[in-house]
Amino acid sequence: MYDIIVIGAGPAGLTAAIYARRAEKSVLVLEKETFGGQITHSPKVENYPGFIQMSGNEFAEKLIEQALHLEAEIELDEAKAIEDHGDYKRVICENGSFDGRTVIIATGSKHRQLGVARENDFVGAGVSYCAVCDGAFYRGKTVAVIGGGNTALQEAVMLSDICEKVTLVQNLAFFTGEQKLLDQLKKKDNVSFITSSVVDALKGDDELTGITIRNTDTNGTTDLTVDGIFVAIGQVPENEPFKTIAPLNDWGYIVSDEGCVIGSGVFVAGDCRTKQVRQIATAISDGAVAAVAACRYLD
Ligand SMILES: Cc1cc2nc3c(=O)[nH]c(=O)nc-3n(C[C@H](O)[C@H](O)[C@H](O)COP(=O)(O)OP(=O)(O)OC[C@H]3O[C@@H](n4cnc5c(N)ncnc54)[C@H](O)[C@@H]3O)c2cc1C
Repeated sequence: MYDIIVIGAGPAGLTAAIYARRAEKSVLVLEKETFGGQITHSPKVENYPGFIQMSGNEFAEKLIEQALHLEAEIELDEAKAIEDHGDYKRVICENGSFDGRTVIIATGSKHRQLGVARENDFVGAGVSYCAVCDGAFYRGKTVAVIGGGNTALQEAVMLSDICEKVTLVQNLAFFTGEQKLLDQLKKKDNVSFITSSVVDALKGDDELTGITIRNTDTNGTTDLTVDGIFVAIGQVPENEPFKTIAPLNDWGYIVSDEGCVIGSGVFVAGDCRTKQVRQIATAISDGAVAAVAACRYLD
């Protein structure tokens, strides 16, 4: 019986483990894929306070080292469900089950991918899913933003201030984001718009040099020379297994405020919950808040 079971070994989950171990609680962290979470996909992080520059992997390694140094247990296993047994919870995993008095869900979210060939090869070499994180690497360069909702429009606004040229590529005939953002973009000389079009192919050897776009009405294709693309076609949280124990909103995020409490010994932290900004700084903040809340519940 653990005091706290943390589901997900990203920045939020590992921070929760660090705080909980320092409060001398027994902690098990479950991770289904990559110790360190999504930040391990980022070759450069330049916006985490206290570090001018580091790679996502370097950062993840430090978090894991600290959690292990404090003797948190870490298992590679996928949580499939949480059973509520009153004063304890049973986390059902692919390879067995674990009991804990409390559970912190820190399962993050995944950026929806385009699903085109070689997309993963170009991550960090021309393909990005986060303008806030990676925009500065494209200063003075030519980029495309793929998507037409609020995130895509906001990213295009931000990029238009630092990039030489920004092209928005939207699959529908219209943009679904706020009109005022669209109006703001239309006033900019360095922004152009392509609608009813999807990305068919990514071009380049080691680094992205361009994309092929297909018009969905005519099926005609066009090549666009770009240094980078920012894919903003939504995020996919992975909270389905927990929907009976934690309320989800229409987009699948666990509904919670910055208190990170779900109720009856269940807590949530990081990108998997409803929030405005999904970044390491906010995930780590949640991890600390959720762990302290779980410790208070246990005490
Ligand atoms: C390419 C890229 C670059 C980025 N760059 C930056 C940056 O420069 N600065 C910045 O602040 N942020 C950046 N981000 C965002 C940042 O990585 C996230 O905000 C942060 O990782 C969120 O932390 P988290 O712990 O909430 O979730 P995650 O990092 O997503 O970790 C969640 C973990 O839970 C695991 N998991 C999910 N479901 C289960 C399950 N059922 N059982 C067990 N384990 C499970 C996942 O495998 C994952 O490892 C970037 C993201 C990407 C993809």
